[in-house]
Formats: sequence, C-alpha cells, structure tokens
Amino acid sequence: MNIILIGPQASGKGTQAERLAARTGMKHFSTGEAFRAEVMSGSELGKRLKRCMDSGELVPDNVVNEVTRKAVEQNRERGLIFDGYPRTKEQAEFLDRITRVDAVVAIEVSDEVAVQRISSRYVCSKCGKGYNTVTLPPKQAGKCDEDGASLVQRDDDKPEAVRKRLADYHAKTAPLISFFEGKGARIIRIDGEQPIEEVFEDVTAALRV
Ligand SMILES: [Zn+2]
Repeated sequence: MNIILIGPQASGKGTQAERLAARTGMKHFSTGEAFRAEVMSGSELGKRLKRCMDSGELVPDNVVNEVTRKAVEQNRERGLIFDGYPRTKEQAEFLDRITRVDAVVAIEVSDEVAVQRISSRYVCSKCGKGYNTVTLPPKQAGKCDEDGASLVQRDDDKPEAVRKRLADYHAKTAPLISFFEGKGARIIRIDGEQPIEEVFEDVTAALRV
C-alpha cells in the first residue's frame, strides 16, 4: 500500500506521517530526509543533489523524481507514506507512472489557523532556541529562557510569507487530490484543526490500520 499525506504548512502532516509509519511499519518518505540520506550515501545522485542544495537553488523536478524512484523501488513490499511529495502536477504524474497510490489523506486546516499556528513561532536571536507563544511560551514575554536575549520571528514565519506559501499550496498541491482520485485512489479528508491525537485516531480509523 502507498499513501500520500497532503496538507498545508502547519497541518501537522509530518508528525502524522511519522506516527503512521511507526504504527504500520511502512516507510516514511519525506523529501528533506531522503535528500540528506542520498547526499550521505555519496552516490552520483547525491552529488548532484548536494550541488543544488549548496547553491540554494530549488532542486529540479527530475532530481526529486530520481530520489523518489529509488525509494519506490526499495520499498515495494513495505509501502510508502509520502510526506511533502508530490507537490506539483509533474511530480504527481511521475509518481503515477512508477507506482500505484492507494490513498490520499488530506489533512485540512483553514488558512487562518495555519497563519496563526506559524506566526506564533519565535526564535532566540542569540542561541536559536525555538518558542511558540501559544504552545511553548517563554517564561518572560519576548525573552529567551536560557540567555534572556530577545526573541525574533523568522521572515518565513511572518504572516505575509505564510500566506504566500498557502496560496502556492492551493494553486499547485491541493489539485493533486482530484488527480489521484481520478486514478482510483481513496480520498480521505481529515479535520486537521483537532488535537494531534484525535487527528491520528481519525487517520488510522479511516485507513483501518
Ligand atoms: Zn537564547
């Protein structure tokens, strides 16, 4: 069985993918992790990847697809949980050519909640320790617990940047749900605004795992 977990930033799909992999023994495939492993292996593909990553460029589709092909070939028996892939129509078409996707689990979170979850993240300007004003607040507002340095927001976590990525998700990634539905995958929609534990219960109940 192969499953795609799809959802916007801050939907918690990475956490759900990890837990689902632990529960089922399936392979959790996240591109970031797969890229690092490929670079570590020292393969030709890893060297190409390293050049892209070092130059700060977006890793081209054909390279991302090669990494995916390897994972698919190595995990035919075990099955894969895709997290953060595919992101585009081209990647979805590639995946459809090399394997069958049995289910797409869409973890749904409104834009408002996503913006609120991400824009409550702060980091220490000195030691880099992460905080969250809602779930992990510092003892004293705006100051690091460790060294008292001021907490700052990453540019990427500012509401405008988050909204831009959400727009990109709605335009490019969300339509992949109907693409895979058209290929016969089961579509499972989960309310991602619930607590993590309840989201996981809904996911496992729907997949019967
Ligand atoms: Zn600090």
